[in-house]
Amino acid sequence: SKKIVIIGGVAGGASTAARLRRLDETSEIIMFERGSYISYANCGLPYHIGNVIKERDSLLVTTPEAMSKKYNVDVRIDSEVISIDKENKKVQIKKVKTGETYEESYDTLVISTGSSPLKPPIEGINSPGIFTLWTVPDTDEIKKFISERQPKNAVVIGGGFIGLEVAENLHAAGLEVTVAEAMDQVMAPVDYEMAQLVQNNMVANKVNLILGDGVSKFKSENGKVTITLASGRTLEADMVILSIGVRPNGQLAKDAGLEMNQRGAIVVDKYLKTSDSNIYALGDVIEVEEYINKGRAMIALAGPANKQGRICANNIYGANEEYKGTQGTSVAKVFDVTVASTGTNEKTLIKMGMTEGKDYLTAIISQKSHAGYYPEASEMILKLVFSADGKKIFGAQIVGEDGVDKRIDTIATTIRLGGSIYDLKELELAYAPPYSSAKDPVNMLGFVAENIIQNKVKLSKWNDINPEVKNDVTILDIREEAELMVLEIPNSVNIPLGQLRKRLNELNKDDKIIVFCAVGVRSYNAARTLMENGFKNVTVYPAGTNFYKQV
Ligand code: FAD
Repeated sequence: SKKIVIIGGVAGGASTAARLRRLDETSEIIMFERGSYISYANCGLPYHIGNVIKERDSLLVTTPEAMSKKYNVDVRIDSEVISIDKENKKVQIKKVKTGETYEESYDTLVISTGSSPLKPPIEGINSPGIFTLWTVPDTDEIKKFISERQPKNAVVIGGGFIGLEVAENLHAAGLEVTVAEAMDQVMAPVDYEMAQLVQNNMVANKVNLILGDGVSKFKSENGKVTITLASGRTLEADMVILSIGVRPNGQLAKDAGLEMNQRGAIVVDKYLKTSDSNIYALGDVIEVEEYINKGRAMIALAGPANKQGRICANNIYGANEEYKGTQGTSVAKVFDVTVASTGTNEKTLIKMGMTEGKDYLTAIISQKSHAGYYPEASEMILKLVFSADGKKIFGAQIVGEDGVDKRIDTIATTIRLGGSIYDLKELELAYAPPYSSAKDPVNMLGFVAENIIQNKVKLSKWNDINPEVKNDVTILDIREEAELMVLEIPNSVNIPLGQLRKRLNELNKDDKIIVFCAVGVRSYNAARTLMENGFKNVTVYPAGTNFYKQV
């Protein structure tokens, strides 16, 4: 019988422990957690702040007692592992409440110490009124502050998914919310134009959004925090939530002499074994292989951590199961929209030195969540990034109100199974009017991608129509006259689609033409008519008014 010691009792650690026990009744399993809670729902924490998840207890998936009973695991909370002696296979533990230390030996050690919120050495970062949200006590503290101090406004620093979830929930709790982000967009996993859709919805929900301006200084005085941004602009807030990223909790492993990467994550092999053959590591604290481009990456997500826990346990009992990499599939609710992505985005490919047209292509389409004639269909925008021959899908991004999650999962699955854009065309997906269309948005992405590869359609970029600049481009708006009353594009030519064939002589065959309509479908039809009639340089403006209104 083996003695297995696990450090960290939440996503990765608790998954490993449960699987270990299911595989073997005899081993001794000890799980150390420095906090007072194990296996809690960190992903649910933001929603408790907004009272969407009302009961605090429902976040606590299990208790140490329940886990001990169910799995016969020796759960020791308030117990921080402070050193690992890999030569003698021992760990040293400090009881957080008493400061007392002791040792425990192991045959196999599992490290799932997770990550912690990044707190760079910015002046005043530890001032009162500045919070991070990572654990149950963090949540308690934020909730207590809100109920006792009744703050009127909050500034969230960082526009990643946790920052935006917190922003939404503070807003739900009645605060006026500002989000300040150093990059020029929120939600780094999606490309710039897709992020605009999320940002518009935040602004529509009365969130103040500041982009391209990071924090340079905090100052707390008389219950107010003054935030000085890099531009010199200052903001005043009753409370600040810092969510500017995470760093792996790798110090313990580093001190033990395990192989680490430059950024402090533990290096593991494909079996999740560290540089020491008796020590495994998983979750946010490790470096993984990024699934699409096979680079090394650190991706802090619950799905990978939980699945790695299972693999880790299997391998401790000799399974030799490989972890095949992390695709970064993620989804977040931000006010009225859902934003989701999987794989690699376009800006990453560009950073890697790849060129559109040669190394990759993109397709952006606007589709209804389900049949347009069935009530409550809503628009979603999908972006696909794929190889020039269509055989490889690099990634996808979707923003919409409904049905986004299942489409991203369908594409994520296709990628996992090595599928191409041609597979997206063929997927036979469930359809009835309340759920989808006979050609699902994912099928449509496949069709459009194929059209692009075969030069049957060419998409312009979302910022190719610039109303301020009169240039050599003819913007052909093929919407009906009535639609122009809602939104008119300056310097455009209007020929409704139904009249196009008769009025071709009003256009010049050698001109560069961008065809515009509300969602892109009529534009595509118009572009085909033009191309079949000898027009040489025709592009379709993707997703129509969805993107144009953001320019
Ligand atoms: P954790 O689950 O964080 O567990 C690590 C544990 O180790 C911690 O409890 C820590 O106290 C303990 N520990 C560290 N060092 C020691 C030590 N020396 N001794 C003893 N114990 C130690 N992911 C998603 O995929 N979707 C989401 O919607 C999502 N939302 C999130 C929302 C929030 C607010 C947060 C904080 C995270 C969210 N995540 C989400 C990320 C996800 O929770 C993590 O990727 C996942 O929990 C990682 O698992 P882990 O086991 O590596 O680390």
